[in-house]
Amino acid sequence: MNRSNDVLAVFAGRLRTDPWATDPGPAWLLIRDGRFAAIVPGPTRPAEWPAAWPTLDLGKAVVLPGLVDSHVHLTESGDGAGEEDSAARTLAEKVELGVENARIALRAGVTTVADCGGPAEAVLAVRARAAALPDRARAVVSTPPITSVRGHGWRFGGEAADAGQAEELVARFVAAGADFVKVMASGGGTAGAPPWEPGFPQDTLRALAGKAATLGRPLKVHCLSADSMRAAVAAGVRLIEHGKFRTAAEDGGGFDPAVADLLARTGTVVCPTLSVGHHVLAVPPEVAGEAGRMWRRRHPHDLEHLRRLVDSGVRMVSGTDAGWRFTPFDALPNELRLMAGAGMTNRDVLAAATTDAAAALGMGDAIGRIAPGHQADFIAVDADPVDDLSALERIQAVARDGLVVR
Ligand SMILES: [Zn+2]
Repeated sequence: MNRSNDVLAVFAGRLRTDPWATDPGPAWLLIRDGRFAAIVPGPTRPAEWPAAWPTLDLGKAVVLPGLVDSHVHLTESGDGAGEEDSAARTLAEKVELGVENARIALRAGVTTVADCGGPAEAVLAVRARAAALPDRARAVVSTPPITSVRGHGWRFGGEAADAGQAEELVARFVAAGADFVKVMASGGGTAGAPPWEPGFPQDTLRALAGKAATLGRPLKVHCLSADSMRAAVAAGVRLIEHGKFRTAAEDGGGFDPAVADLLARTGTVVCPTLSVGHHVLAVPPEVAGEAGRMWRRRHPHDLEHLRRLVDSGVRMVSGTDAGWRFTPFDALPNELRLMAGAGMTNRDVLAAATTDAAAALGMGDAIGRIAPGHQADFIAVDADPVDDLSALERIQAVARDGLVVR
């Protein structure tokens, strides 16, 4: 389909509209102006649909909503480049990189990515370029993460010394076009800001949560320690990135069951980003260097801690942290496999990548399911992922806004 066709009829041998639908059966989909206009169950093309309409027959394939990667960094390379090298790229280089990364994501069935931090000008340009090209994932973006002075990710341009400055940054980034707000409530990989150290005190987190709510923007908060999660939830945050329990000892002893219960009780959603450790460990040790030594200790603890969060009833959305360290932009299917390995059901995993991810971004009525009025984002695979998650690694077709690109 190209942009001159405003109508497309699609036959799906097995249509899965969302993770909770009963077993998929045959259906016809009508796409008009980039959105699903009608869903007609059954094998027979509706008689009133003109034969002249362009038609895509997906045969026996299982058709389901396009996937959402809730945590990426489009303007980062995912090849192990350090933060200084990355910051030294020109604006044009960052934009080219981001637009190419959006192409790689879409080919993997990821029709929407949420950019969780990058330089404002570059990220906004990537969002616009990706939207205008048919074969790129849709980008929703936060622009720079708001962080303490010389805190984790400060090179992206979002440092705030106090609550007042933090609120000003939220207002400025939203005015510039940010779809959501990203905040660092703990340290991370940035030198001088280790993960177990706090980012902002609770009053600043509360001010940030209030400002984001006033401006009607979702708030995603990076937390790598139990204390940072406790402070974030107390400040009103309900969407946590990473959700790790790091300590200076890196011995896995930081898990706090009270925090797990708090997250479950408050309905706080966690995006566990397991791909970072997985892909650091997948490159040769001499290439991974110090990161490899660090993650060899961390990753097994991360998997165990996620299992305990799942056991506690904490809800998850799926994100890879693509672009960061060695994480590629087609990593989401493998991330979903890791989440299932931590004890999530396939239905919950699929919800984490579709309906729940869309809702967390405030886009539940636009993406994440196949329903009339939703953007016509879909993928076709050879088996129902509710029975066999690995089907998501065998993408047969991808469409974003009704444009079939694969
Ligand atoms: Zn990240």
